[in-house]
Amino acid sequence: MADRKRYSFYRGLFTGDVLNFSKRSPFVKEIMFERIYPTKIILPMKMHYGVPAIPAVKVGDYVKIGQCVGIPAKGTFSVPVHSGISGKVTDISDIRLPNGILTPAITIVNDQKRTKLDSVKPRSGLSLTAKEAISLIRNAGICGMGGEGIPTAAKLQRARTESVKDFLVNCLQSEPYSTSDLVAITEYPDYVVLGSCACARAVGASRCIFLISENRKEQRHELENSLAKIRNDFKDLEFEIKLFRERFPQGYYRLVARALYKKNLAAGETLERSCKAVLFNCSTMLACWETLSDNIPMMSRIVSVTGDASGGHNMLVPIGTPISELLLNAQDIKNGSDRIVWGNCLTGIEVKDPENTPVVKTTSVISVVRRIEVPKTPCIHCGLCSECCPMNLSPNTIFEMLNQGLRQKAAEEGARECIACGSCSYVCPSGIDLTPAIASFAGEGRIIESNSLLDNSVAMGRPYEDFDMSSVGEASLLEDYSDNSEDGRKSASDSITLPFEKDKEV
Ligand code: SF4
Ligand code: SF4
Repeated sequence: MADRKRYSFYRGLFTGDVLNFSKRSPFVKEIMFERIYPTKIILPMKMHYGVPAIPAVKVGDYVKIGQCVGIPAKGTFSVPVHSGISGKVTDISDIRLPNGILTPAITIVNDQKRTKLDSVKPRSGLSLTAKEAISLIRNAGICGMGGEGIPTAAKLQRARTESVKDFLVNCLQSEPYSTSDLVAITEYPDYVVLGSCACARAVGASRCIFLISENRKEQRHELENSLAKIRNDFKDLEFEIKLFRERFPQGYYRLVARALYKKNLAAGETLERSCKAVLFNCSTMLACWETLSDNIPMMSRIVSVTGDASGGHNMLVPIGTPISELLLNAQDIKNGSDRIVWGNCLTGIEVKDPENTPVVKTTSVISVVRRIEVPKTPCIHCGLCSECCPMNLSPNTIFEMLNQGLRQKAAEEGARECIACGSCSYVCPSGIDLTPAIASFAGEGRIIESNSLLDNSVAMGRPYEDFDMSSVGEASLLEDYSDNSEDGRKSASDSITLPFEKDKEV
């Protein structure tokens, strides 16, 4: 099933054993899987790209598992928020997330009774058109779980409008120490595969292609097994597994376009339009199948809690679980002497207040790494930063230009192409933190694009009076995901058949 070719972009970091599963580490680095039930959750209303949802409950209310507690204002580009525990709402107030976003957040104290909404149960006897399936995904609050948190329904809708042929499932997870996507595949392979097939049908794709690292043999085996089971139910789809080299940051859509389609996407160009392909994270596909088959909204996720000073934990937690509760369940982590990072250790942000910092929909890893201060010296022009930059930039040159205020020159040098991967800062032997300056310059251009996108949504009704528009710029690597409510492709094939009801149009 997998072709023999190995795909990749050029350059990047070869994290391999040095960062990932080092045999020199005193800790066991096998992938473990645990379930955690926290004492409370803190649910930010903005965990996705777009405007925040509006709290739909008040202090004192009792909520059940699966209940919607945050709703998008009418006409806005947003997704709803659901509770993954049952209990009482004790607080609704603004919090600031480590990435600087100010958002209203709902605190729910767990009654440990795990009372579910009656509607959270397997679906049966239901017919859905493709458009209705996308609507279900929208109402379930699903957004991309691998990075920017783009509302999945909007991305599916756009792929459908652009008539994509290839439905790409990103199983690459190249960030050091992160294994949450890999655990999603080993624990729920059928869900990942079925979610991918259903969404591929919903957008009208003809090929469903799984992208995975050549080293992930166990996960590849699981995918092959699941595909063998459902192949007959999806005869209209062609399946492929493409093997990629282990390299960071493998999986970013512009690098995938380069590796698979030999295309260099310019800023503003989309994978959908230029390559007739759309790329989704495998954990997002798992969430989609949970919604389509079991009526489960997006309310929990798998998070890796790991690093160079700890073992390899993967925890299935309700979204909103405070970081401190994750760490309590990872006893090999010496909290206090280590550095806790919200995200992966190359691009993540240090957590100062783990008690009040929650897991959000896009949190795939909490890294606990040793605090190593590299002595800072002037640039020695070793060229390592240029050698590793996946966007073929000269980070040291751009950094120097920005320091001297030569912004136009930095732009001409390609600074706007930076994808904030953090590789240049990581390799610099002089301890120069190149990434923040270059990435924030690159992000400024994108803020203008994303603001105009949001202006269109907000024009239909101000969603939340205290919404901090300055926080919008955090969505840095985005294309135009206008959420057209009108289906761009109405046709006779506007229906999908899902395998749990073979004889029905679903
Ligand atoms: S952070 Fe930007 S400049 Fe640095 S290596 Fe990554 S893409 Fe290149
Ligand atoms: S890696 Fe650091 S020292 Fe080497 S060229 Fe780049 S900025 Fe200079």
